[in-house]
Amino acid sequence: MQQNFLQVIYLIGSITFIAGLKYLGNAKTARKGNIIAAIGMTLAILGTIFLYENSEGIRLQNLGLIFGGLILGSLLGYIAAKRVQMTAMPEMVSLFNGMGGACAMLISLIEIQHFTSHGIDINSMPKGEFLIIIIGMIIGSVSFAGSIIAWGKLSGKINDKSFGLQQMINIGLLIVIFGLAILAIVSGGEYTTQMFYGVLVLSLLYGILFVLPIGGADMPVVISLLNSFTGVAAACGGFLYDNKVMLVGGILVGSAGTLLTMVMCKAMNRSLINVLIGNFGGGAASAAAGSSSVQGTIKEIKASDVAILMKYAKKVVIVPGYGLAVAQAQHVCHELETLLESEGVDVKYAIHPVAGRMPGHMNVLLAESNVSYDKLIEMEEINPEFATTDVVLVVGANDVVNPAAKSDPTSPIYGMPILEVENAVNVIVNKRSMKAGYAGIENELFYKPKTSMFFGDAKKALTELVSEIKSL
Ligand code: NDP
Repeated sequence: MQQNFLQVIYLIGSITFIAGLKYLGNAKTARKGNIIAAIGMTLAILGTIFLYENSEGIRLQNLGLIFGGLILGSLLGYIAAKRVQMTAMPEMVSLFNGMGGACAMLISLIEIQHFTSHGIDINSMPKGEFLIIIIGMIIGSVSFAGSIIAWGKLSGKINDKSFGLQQMINIGLLIVIFGLAILAIVSGGEYTTQMFYGVLVLSLLYGILFVLPIGGADMPVVISLLNSFTGVAAACGGFLYDNKVMLVGGILVGSAGTLLTMVMCKAMNRSLINVLIGNFGGGAASAAAGSSSVQGTIKEIKASDVAILMKYAKKVVIVPGYGLAVAQAQHVCHELETLLESEGVDVKYAIHPVAGRMPGHMNVLLAESNVSYDKLIEMEEINPEFATTDVVLVVGANDVVNPAAKSDPTSPIYGMPILEVENAVNVIVNKRSMKAGYAGIENELFYKPKTSMFFGDAKKALTELVSEIKSL
């Protein structure tokens, strides 16, 4: 009876994951989606702790240890999530993903020890079970080691490191890992245990070598890919324990991570292979592009002149980018928007799918300062509107408004869809200097006759702009 009840709880948990994911697909309902999935996860965990019985009717032991771990982990997660800066969010996602990979790896290790500690020869383990354990361990360890390296790179603790033949070595290592794993499963010889631990060590090494050479700026795509690996590893755990909720959760994470990776690559018009071996941003491609620097002069504008342009405009579109997040200028940006609206100006935000450094970065940032979701307009929808826009204010964005993506086939961002701000009547660009953005290339938009550069840190510049508009 209790076991049936547990299965019902697992079913409810699975449904909440699916519903949660659905709600997460829209900025308006994302918070609700997160809460729904978290309730489902809590139910599944508590159900397992209090209702699960093994085939001999034995319940979970060590409740003290289990709850100690749960409380400690929840506390650490809560503090980390409360403290993290928006710009450091990819680092945190990477670290949390690494923990998921580590869990999958540990499940495999514990299950092997669980089996052998009863004095049973590892070779007598059912082959199907052994296969799932070993797959879960390979994927979990790659994901764990890779995520930790990704975290180190994003936090500036580890530099990009590549050496000759690295890709060949990585492919060779993968072949050895899978060869050894197959041998461990089918051979039935006396070295099976050693082979198993050999696969563990080599998988950890592969995780490190796989991520080390990838350009630091490409880490968000890699994290999304590793996230999908962790999902597959968790799904292996679901197979192993015949646990439906773990299986469904793992499959959802795996497929969502894969889709997100594809969406990010598509939005940058790059293939996954190019991300994994291309060394984008500061690499050869951008150095070459940087050498064919843009000709022309730039025009500077003062806050008082920007204020006049904006106050007397009918329609203003704000283009937020990575610099807005760095400056934490979202609140003053919202203040500017409400001020202009009170003057009768129509204000919208143009959201590029890869603006910032992680998917949905700008949406989350602007939601933090209570910008209405209806004002956040996606790229395809806003592009035709630029022709009827009086003023575009680009705040800390660069690559996502670079016309080279359309006009220069030699540019590393050629083919990436961009926000076509140059179609507006006036373009004001706020950034601190003429430095390049993520792709490391010059931006001809800054040299166009319609464009005026409004230099300064975004928070300071927008604060000045707001007070100039108020004083008009
Ligand atoms: P960019 O990185 O192209 O440009 C950001 C600009 O902000 C810089 O040129 C910088 O210029 C300026 N800036 C930095 N700090 C400040 C500040 N305090 N105040 C004002 N300006 C500042 O950003 P975009 O958002 O335009 O483009 C995102 C890039 O990231 C794209 O190339 C995308 O492909 C890539 N990417 C995005 C991912 C995602 O999921 N969103 C994932 C992986 C990559 P200056 O130093 O002169 O101030």
